[in-house]
Amino acid sequence: MNLPVNIPIQEIDDVLFREKSVRVFLKREDLLHDDISGNKWRKLKYNLQSAKSKNLKTLVTFGGAFSNHISATAAAGKEFGFKTVGVIRGEEHFPLNPTLDYAQSCGMELRYVDRSAYRVKTTKDFEAKYLSDLEPYYLIPEGGTNALAIKGCEEILSDVNFDFDVVCCSCGTGGTVSGLINSLEPHQSALAFSSLKGAEFLIEEIQKFAQNSQWSLNVDYHFGGYAKVDRILVDFMNRFKSKHHISLDPIYTGKMMYGLCDLIENDYFRRDSNIIAIHTGGLQGVLGMNERIKDKGLQIL
Ligand SMILES: *Cc1c(COP(=O)(O)O)cnc(C)c1O
Repeated sequence: MNLPVNIPIQEIDDVLFREKSVRVFLKREDLLHDDISGNKWRKLKYNLQSAKSKNLKTLVTFGGAFSNHISATAAAGKEFGFKTVGVIRGEEHFPLNPTLDYAQSCGMELRYVDRSAYRVKTTKDFEAKYLSDLEPYYLIPEGGTNALAIKGCEEILSDVNFDFDVVCCSCGTGGTVSGLINSLEPHQSALAFSSLKGAEFLIEEIQKFAQNSQWSLNVDYHFGGYAKVDRILVDFMNRFKSKHHISLDPIYTGKMMYGLCDLIENDYFRRDSNIIAIHTGGLQGVLGMNERIKDKGLQIL
């Protein structure tokens, strides 16, 4: 379960950054693994080791129909020899969307539960009703966040060999940024961008895992809510790709980079700041998103 040792970190050369006298580096966690992308690999790593050491051969986890975590867990199961079961929120739709189709092709068994049942998925009753037929299994929470996931994310910056001031990361559950926070030096800080609307609950989530207070949460760039996009965001992502030859995902990294550029434009950062943004991956979601935004005349290129 070893990773390539050095994940590229590349400076983004942009007139805006030069004008504002900041430097922005993108840590390409999206290149960690073809199918277990970015932060999901970091979050799974120690969980997979734990499952192995407990001799559990089945992984059970949860997610929505477009979930990067479902996709990554399915791929990890295939690669490392676990049976995987994905509990999916909502009804089954045919044909399967690209995420679920891929998960199933990796051998993941998909179990659909309605939204009210999904809400109580962490209870013993839920397990008794929906999972009791399985062999002993290793449970990974929705989004993959637990203490072992944070431990994995504490390694994201371990191969960065220059000093920086701020690390930026997009947030769903807050697990990834918590790991980053725990790996900071005292003079550094983390800036978390929420992809969800009404994400104030995230502050508490991050506080649960973060071992210092060198961080802040930005909630201004959710673009209408989780998995919502608009033309402004899509145009930004497409421009970013044509300028820098780097694809962003519409749910997390696109919103983070938009937010980061907007803050730079508005002089949020000190001059001469060195900023690292984490490309947490998630590109598997582009195909499914494009299917959903086609009738709005939008397309992520
Ligand atoms: C899941 C995911 C995130 C959010 O990670 P959390 O640890 O849940 O905050 C960010 N970016 C991408 C691409 C993701 O897939």
